[in-house]
Amino acid sequence: MKVQIPREEIDQLIKQFECTEAQAIKAYLDGKEASRVSFEEELRRQLGPKKEEEKWQVPILTPREIKTHLDKYVIGQEEYKKRLSIAAAFHFAILRLLDESTEEPSVKRFRKKNTIIAGPSGSGKTYCAEVLGDLLEVPTLIVDATDYTEAGYVGKSADDMIRELIDVAPGHSRQEQAEFVNRYGGIIFIDEIDKKAKDRSLIGHDISREGFQRAVLKLIERKYVPIDNPMSPASHFKETLIKGAGKDPRKQKNMLSTERILFIVGGSFQRPHNDLESIVKDRIKHEGGRIREDGSFMVTGFGSSDREKKTRTIENSYKEANVEDYIRFGLIPELVGRIPIRSHVNLLSKNDLVRIMRDTEDSIIQQYILEFKAFGIDLKIDESAILYVAEKGENQKTGARALVSVWETILTGFQFELPGSHFKELVVAEDLCRMPKDALLEMLKRSPFLDYIESFKREYGIELELSEDVEAYVEKYAEDNKMEVSAALKQLLKSASTLNYMNIKGKFQVTVEMLEDNNYFNNLFTTWYQEQQGAQATAAGGSAI
Ligand code: ADP
Repeated sequence: MKVQIPREEIDQLIKQFECTEAQAIKAYLDGKEASRVSFEEELRRQLGPKKEEEKWQVPILTPREIKTHLDKYVIGQEEYKKRLSIAAAFHFAILRLLDESTEEPSVKRFRKKNTIIAGPSGSGKTYCAEVLGDLLEVPTLIVDATDYTEAGYVGKSADDMIRELIDVAPGHSRQEQAEFVNRYGGIIFIDEIDKKAKDRSLIGHDISREGFQRAVLKLIERKYVPIDNPMSPASHFKETLIKGAGKDPRKQKNMLSTERILFIVGGSFQRPHNDLESIVKDRIKHEGGRIREDGSFMVTGFGSSDREKKTRTIENSYKEANVEDYIRFGLIPELVGRIPIRSHVNLLSKNDLVRIMRDTEDSIIQQYILEFKAFGIDLKIDESAILYVAEKGENQKTGARALVSVWETILTGFQFELPGSHFKELVVAEDLCRMPKDALLEMLKRSPFLDYIESFKREYGIELELSEDVEAYVEKYAEDNKMEVSAALKQLLKSASTLNYMNIKGKFQVTVEMLEDNNYFNNLFTTWYQEQQGAQATAAGGSAI
């Protein structure tokens, strides 16, 4: 492309900036390019991407590819990861197929692989869905059922979930965001669904709980939800216009169908009495199974081929939960019936927790390393510390969530004291984890010594080495003279600056004798000086011969 460079403008630049012609031409061209770039940016900011840039697609990934990705982040929970990978892979592949196909689909309403996931808290139920949403780059919403009520009650309604999903979709207007969900689908994970189960002992509250389940059921089946909150003034205005038009809800631009949204509902299904585990165990006992002392249980059945009696041991009762068990727990049959995939997660073992800390991307340890690095501190975590934290975490029985609280207890003091100090490294081993406060105090107690060593090195390029004896001597001196350790150090090593004149480089070991003798460094210097003089004299004498 030819660029016109107007002569008079270049001349003016040469005059204004007192520069050469070459400099003026280069600056002129660079300036024009910079203004073109910011012009484009501003257009995009106001008008969004150009039409040809909008060819975005949800990546088509196979279940195996999704699972391989989940494996990098989520430890264990193999069955759940597999189920979720299959559900998501097929869900989004079908949406793409429906979108791209020109033929009439052979299935009018495809059956979504909505999933229910049960298992102990903090073991990866939600996390898996988060990682999945990030991978697929589809709008993903994770909510707690307890934040919502049945429509008509005060609080958020189940329909609000759909609007919140629209909130997280890309687009420059609400309409575009809704269109995105309508086209590419989305994922909604409803956690704590168990808190909305009917509980026979709480009759009064049950109507609303059951109502919420019914509202979710409608969303899962298919519902047209207004993309703006019907209570908002903007929505009222639009509604009046549309009512007049008498349109079919499916064609209305301000409604979104939930058809393309994949739902996952999860919960721990634990409660003080009549929890899912005990419901499953009771049923299995009733069917002739036997509960062992360690809580695991054995079921006897028939081998398929030889009709022999077979016994198998079950460690996780969530795995065995069937439709009836969920209903007995308090989910309404229609909802359970609409969620064809049932999966479970296991309580994380100490070994799992070790792997979560050591082997996952985004691990908590990597995060702490980054946090310390932000203040120029090199955090090193020893294997012994990881084992210690895993054991502590396992005892808390809150899954991987415990890891955060254990690490916080250990590192809080260090995170407060070390940024801005001279400490450039923190090595965390089991001892420190056991008594973090003591370890911190010990570090801070040494602090004046390290400060002094550091500043001496900066000033003179000499690294003083202070043994434990020396430190003890200085501390005692400080105590006896009622002064700060740092002041005592300065006083006792006042003449150490003479080392600088003696061409000493690198390390210099300080001993207690040096501190005891007020004149030590001055004497050292005098001796050195005399030696130098002697050597010069000898050299001069030698040359005279
Ligand atoms: P819940 O099972 O109650 O939904 P979460 O999935 O929210 O628990 O887990 C809480 C946090 O613990 C996650 O954000 C994640 O950092 C960590 N975590 C839990 N389980 C695992 C796991 N199996 N692998 C890796 N990290 C996990």
